[in-house]
Amino acid sequence: MTVVDKFIKFHRLSKSEYIELLQYQKDDGIAEYIREEAVRLRKQYYGNKVFTRGLIEFTNYCKNNCYYCGIRRDNRYVERYRLTKNEILECCQQGYALGYRTFVLQGGEDPYYTDERMEDIIRNIKNEFSDCALTLSVGEKSYESYRRFREAGADRYLLRHETADSGLYRSLHPEMMSLENRKQCLYNLKKLGYQVGAGFMVGPPGQTISHIAEDLIFLQELCPEMVGIGPFIPHHDTIYSGERSGSVEQTLYLLSVIRIMLPKVLLPATTALGTMDPLGREKGLAAGANVVMPNLSPVKKRKLYELYDHKICTGEEAAECRNCLSRRVDSAGYSLSDERGDAVR
Ligand code: SAH
Repeated sequence: MTVVDKFIKFHRLSKSEYIELLQYQKDDGIAEYIREEAVRLRKQYYGNKVFTRGLIEFTNYCKNNCYYCGIRRDNRYVERYRLTKNEILECCQQGYALGYRTFVLQGGEDPYYTDERMEDIIRNIKNEFSDCALTLSVGEKSYESYRRFREAGADRYLLRHETADSGLYRSLHPEMMSLENRKQCLYNLKKLGYQVGAGFMVGPPGQTISHIAEDLIFLQELCPEMVGIGPFIPHHDTIYSGERSGSVEQTLYLLSVIRIMLPKVLLPATTALGTMDPLGREKGLAAGANVVMPNLSPVKKRKLYELYDHKICTGEEAAECRNCLSRRVDSAGYSLSDERGDAVR
C-alpha cells in the first residue's frame, strides 16, 4: 500500500511517512486526490456548513517578544491599545445582531488583564449571551488562571503550538519561552475541559518538511478540537522583514492533510491565507476548512492589531465583514451557519 492510501485508510502515519506525504504536495495528481478526500470527509461531518467566529482583538499590548510577531514587546513603533469591558461587550452586541454565536477574545499577553478582570469580562459576556460560545486566545497562563477562566464560563481556547520542533521553536522565540511550556499549557487546557485549538505557521524562516511532519505527529497525539494554520507573513518591524512568506499551496495541502488526519476537526480558513491570496479563504474551504473568523474589533483599532504586513479586513465595519465573507462562502459552494458550531462528536 502506498503512503497516500495508508494515510487515507488509517488517518495516521509515522514521521518518516509524513515527510514522504508532504513531498507529494508537488505532485498535482496526488495533491488533488488528497484534497478530494478531505472535502469528502468535511461534507460527511459538516455538510455545506461553514461556522463563523466573531474575532475581537481586545489588546495589542504584549509582554512576549516572539521574533515573527508585529506586536512583540520590543516593537516601539506600535501604537498600543486595549478595549474596556464595555467596548468588548459592544463588539459582542454588534456581533450577536449580525448572527454570531461564538466570540473569540484574542490579544497579546497583557498583564493589565489580571485574572480578576478576565473573569469579570468572561462572566459579563456569558451572562448577556448565554447561547453563545466564548473562546479565549490570550497565550500562556498558569493552570490556575486557566481554571478560573473556565469556571467563569470560557468554553474554548486557541493556543497555537507554533512549531513542535524544539530547535525551530527556539529560533523563533526568545530564551524565556519554551516549547515544553507551550505544550504543557495545551494539555492543561484539555484537562480543564476546554475545546482546544492548536496550530502552527506555514513557512516561517528555517522551517523544513521534517519540522512540519513533527507538527502533524504532535497534532495526532494532542487530538485538538480545532487546528489553526496560516502562512507566515513577514512584518516590516521584525528581524524577519526581508524574509519570504509561507506558501499558499503548501498551506492548502496541509489543510487537506489535517482534515484527513482529524476528520471532525474545526479548521479555519484564516485571515493570513486571505492576505496572501485574494481568494485564499475560498481555496481554504475548498481544501477542507469549515470555519471563518471575521473581524469584530472596533474599526478604529483594527489597523493597530498588526501581526504581519498587509493584513486584510482592517477597514470595514463588522456588518460589511460578515456580508463579504458570506458572499465568499456562497461562491465556494458552502453556506454560513448561525450555530455555535461545536465540533461533532
Ligand atoms: N498571544 C496569543 C495570540 C497570538 S496572535 C497567543 O500567544 O496565542 C495569533 C497567532 O498569529 C499566533 O499564534 C501566530 O501563529 C500568528 N502570527 C503571529 N505573527 C505572525 C506572522 N508574522 N505571520 C503569520 N502569522 C502570525
